[in-house]
Amino acid sequence: MSVKVDPNLMKDLKAFGLKDANKCFHCGNCTATCPLSTPGNEFPRKFMKYAQMGLKEKIVSSPEPWLCYYCGNCSVECPRGADPGETMMVMRRYLTSIYDWTGFSRKFYTSEKFEIMALVIVGLLVGLGMLVFHGEWDMQRVSLQKAWPAEKMEIADMVMASILTFFLLSNVFRSAKIMMGDLLTKIPLKLYASELKELLLNFLTQKRFGQCDDRTQWFVHLMLMTGYSTAFLLVAVFLAGGIHVVGLSWEPLRFQRDVFYPFFHPIRLLGYYATFAIFYGATYAMIGRLKKSKPAYQNSHSTDWVFLILLQLTTLTGILVHFGRHLNMPFATYSIYIIHLMIAVPMLVLEVPFAKWAHLAYRPVALFLVRVKAKYEQQQAE
Ligand code: SF4
Ligand code: SF4
Repeated sequence: MSVKVDPNLMKDLKAFGLKDANKCFHCGNCTATCPLSTPGNEFPRKFMKYAQMGLKEKIVSSPEPWLCYYCGNCSVECPRGADPGETMMVMRRYLTSIYDWTGFSRKFYTSEKFEIMALVIVGLLVGLGMLVFHGEWDMQRVSLQKAWPAEKMEIADMVMASILTFFLLSNVFRSAKIMMGDLLTKIPLKLYASELKELLLNFLTQKRFGQCDDRTQWFVHLMLMTGYSTAFLLVAVFLAGGIHVVGLSWEPLRFQRDVFYPFFHPIRLLGYYATFAIFYGATYAMIGRLKKSKPAYQNSHSTDWVFLILLQLTTLTGILVHFGRHLNMPFATYSIYIIHLMIAVPMLVLEVPFAKWAHLAYRPVALFLVRVKAKYEQQQAE
């Protein structure tokens, strides 16, 4: 079988942040030391080779970059300072851009200016929409319901959730097709179904990361992941209309409401959890990146910073809105609420399907497909 070589691959990967892969002399220390590398899915050494030799197709069809959680062991053990951990991170950025059919991902990862401009434009559109389509500004008592009636917010929320879901799912489907090739449709559906619970478990617990030596990193990652998944649920599902949940309440569970829920109400607890988890995780990661305290924090791409800054700003403005409502400060609350959504909405609409947030979907899906494929091949061999 002929192997195509792409002479421009190294240059292309450098645009995604690759720095030291050329230093690798293939001793194999990194693969030997990686706690997550397994027979059949070895990494990271082979990706140093793929990058050096221009083997683009090998990279594109590999699930292994998603099996790495960037603990950094390999980079510490590398005698050449080739930074294999960062190379795996670059591979994930590169793959995200390959899976994305719109081309936005590539632009986000290769041009800071483009990413910031896109976030600003969507943010300004959100702000403009909120100023144009507002209801009554009650200046006696804070009323988000009157200012932005639920029916209007519901429509905007549904539009946002649909755009985001469409782009994310179409890219996830493409990733599965690229990783599995013809096998994707050859494998019986019941085999996929039998591994679904593993997909869910990996997503919710990030348990594979727990196999790495640095348990703190796993915990921080878990907090961030569960925090922003909860925030996503609150904004995309409960922001305006909410849903009817049998057993909890027949009333819509609205995130944006004028009455204050009792302290132990599920929506309030979810809001507090998301705020605390994101604030804790993002602060830890920001300090780590500033101090370069761990191997995984040695190299920070602009998208890493944008992601953390957006998370922090969303959390902080959310806290301010909360206080503004409790202290009954109408003007300040309405203003900060607009700013809050001007940050949160572009973060969700652009970062989830096209940038750093996308790994939240690609990683468990890749893990799931690796398991399904292994099971299928085992069945074929029996
Ligand atoms: S990246 Fe470093 S540790 Fe890994 S094979 Fe290359 S030289 Fe060896
Ligand atoms: S960063 Fe950690 S998980 Fe990733 S390849 Fe290196 S040792 Fe393995």
